[in-house]
Amino acid sequence: MKKALNDLIDIVNKESRNKKYEFINHETLKEFMTDKTQNTSVRITKNKTQVPRTAPSEEQNLHSGQAEKMPKLSTVPPVLTDMTFFAELMSSVENCKKCSLCNSRTNVVFGEGSSHAELMIIGEGPGRDEDEQARPFVGRSGQLLTQMLGAMGFKRDDVFIANIVKCRPPNNRVPTPEEAKTCLPFLLKQIDIIKPKVLLLLGATPLKYILDKVGITKLHGTWFEFHGIKTLPSFHPAYLLRDPNQKKYAWEDLQKIMLFLGKPIPQKTQNSAKNHEN
Ligand code: SF4
Repeated sequence: MKKALNDLIDIVNKESRNKKYEFINHETLKEFMTDKTQNTSVRITKNKTQVPRTAPSEEQNLHSGQAEKMPKLSTVPPVLTDMTFFAELMSSVENCKKCSLCNSRTNVVFGEGSSHAELMIIGEGPGRDEDEQARPFVGRSGQLLTQMLGAMGFKRDDVFIANIVKCRPPNNRVPTPEEAKTCLPFLLKQIDIIKPKVLLLLGATPLKYILDKVGITKLHGTWFEFHGIKTLPSFHPAYLLRDPNQKKYAWEDLQKIMLFLGKPIPQKTQNSAKNHEN
């Protein structure tokens, strides 16, 4: 019995080492759900004597303070275990009809990126391109976000990108409080699984629903904490496209994150970032 378990853990370790499942998106999650290694991982994670952690229920989310009480994983490598949680979460999200946004969506936009991301980016909701492609931030705003990340020294695959709501609001309107609050538990579970070092909130909507604050113009670039995670609001790329004069302020915000994460800052902007550090 012990040998069989060790064999299973060896298989999981091998898959973990080749990082097959480090990148989370619709394709990798679907592949994972049909992959034989999923059965290995699920069998191990469901064995309470080996791994006492269970996937958080929607009530046991970060807002309820339950997440911190979950025991740490001990024997299972994080990549595949996280994939199990992600896969379970994606099945619930894909079939979700909890708010009226399910009626107008083409696809649910689950979010994508690294399961080990230091930086997690949270926007408002999918637009037309995102709804069609089932991927976050792929339109013009997404192109600007990719450039912003590049300037910070990140590829898109290094971070995790998600939104407050996972279905497109009609005509790209702002999600209603009811829609945002109904969808929020999914995002909170993603944050809990990834455990990033920094949350970057893009625009007024994540500022409102993650930090319960209003006033992005005043609060951008200010550090907050969300359940122990350093959290910084900044401008949404769509706003920067409408008003390119604000890009320099957004860049100052991003440099604060770079400083915190130990990323090198271009010499000519270094002083500016330090002067604006909170
Ligand atoms: S927006 Fe969120 S809560 Fe509403 S239907 Fe989509 S996944 Fe469900």
